[in-house]
Amino acid sequence: MSETVIIAETTAGAVAPATAELVTAAVGMGANPTVVVPCTDAGAANAAAFAGVARVIAAKSDVFSAYDAAAWAQAIDAVAPQGTVLALASARSKDLAARLAARRGLPVVQDVVGINGSQLTSPILSGKAMQTVEVDGASVITLRANVFAAAEAGGGADVSVVDASGDVRTAVVEMMARASERLDVAEASIIVSGGRGMGSPDNFSHLETLADTIGAAVGASRAAVDTWEDIPHSMQVGQTGKTVNPNLYIAVGISGAIQHLAGMRSSKYIVAINKDADAPIFKHADYGIVATWEEALPVLTSTLSGMMS
Ligand SMILES: Cc1cc2nc3c(=O)[nH]c(=O)nc-3n(C[C@H](O)[C@H](O)[C@H](O)COP(=O)(O)OP(=O)(O)OC[C@H]3O[C@@H](n4cnc5c(N)ncnc54)[C@H](O)[C@@H]3O)c2cc1C
Repeated sequence: MSETVIIAETTAGAVAPATAELVTAAVGMGANPTVVVPCTDAGAANAAAFAGVARVIAAKSDVFSAYDAAAWAQAIDAVAPQGTVLALASARSKDLAARLAARRGLPVVQDVVGINGSQLTSPILSGKAMQTVEVDGASVITLRANVFAAAEAGGGADVSVVDASGDVRTAVVEMMARASERLDVAEASIIVSGGRGMGSPDNFSHLETLADTIGAAVGASRAAVDTWEDIPHSMQVGQTGKTVNPNLYIAVGISGAIQHLAGMRSSKYIVAINKDADAPIFKHADYGIVATWEEALPVLTSTLSGMMS
């Protein structure tokens, strides 16, 4: 029988909390899903047994130590049951979803923000329009973070460990990348983003202080990423960066170019801090502060810090 299969989102080898949102979506589609957890340590898969999950498959293989589209798709394809596949619309999982769909000859629908029976709604044209497509049968679907509520932890699903090493032809052995302890913008429910108006990469420490106060991830505009080597591309939000959908997006020293808006305009609340009252970002902001970040950030950080303590 055809199943609904969730590919768990993982961060640094652990099941990411956003996986629980996929479970809610699957249950809403009338399924008790199977969650496949790509892992090198099967113990990590226990965290995927959210309420509503029928079973968890810990797909254990060394290939999952570093992302490689071909190797991951091959290894997951070998162990995941047939049926509709749900994954998070993160940069990595969208790539993986397309690969998996191609391997299985299934349609793929990316960036879904609404499910109504077999109808799937997603933003197109940089978020300027919404499209609804009807799927007929099994498909591969990626869902944006922070759209569906997270399923409760503590379900009683069995966890089976499967060797997914199989016949993988190529794999990435080691990633030479800057390590980041910070929450990824694609998964965060609050994001503080800085643009070229921050003046220097050192000034991003002020954004980090605010982010630490309110439990946020730190993002950046492309101008910031392109201008300063110290600001990694993984932080970039926008058309050629990451698409984010947080509850709160705080844009600091960001003008609000259409390509930046493409990645964050669906945020539930947008706060903009910019010294130019005519900056386009203010047209999209729910709250705007016309001031330099040097003036506004210390006040905002200390006020929020007082409220959080
Ligand atoms: C094909 C293509 C794809 C692109 N993809 C992306 C993308 O994915 N993401 C993205 O972000 N951009 C993208 N861009 C670039 C985009 O067009 C803009 O150039 C970029 O977003 C501008 O970044 P910014 O707002 O940080 O810089 P600027 O446009 O330089 O704006 C800086 C802002 O900071 C304000 N400011 C200056 N000093 C201060 C201060 N002390 N306090 C407060 N405010 C201050 C200024 O008033 C200004 O509004 C893309 C462009 C192209 C052509």
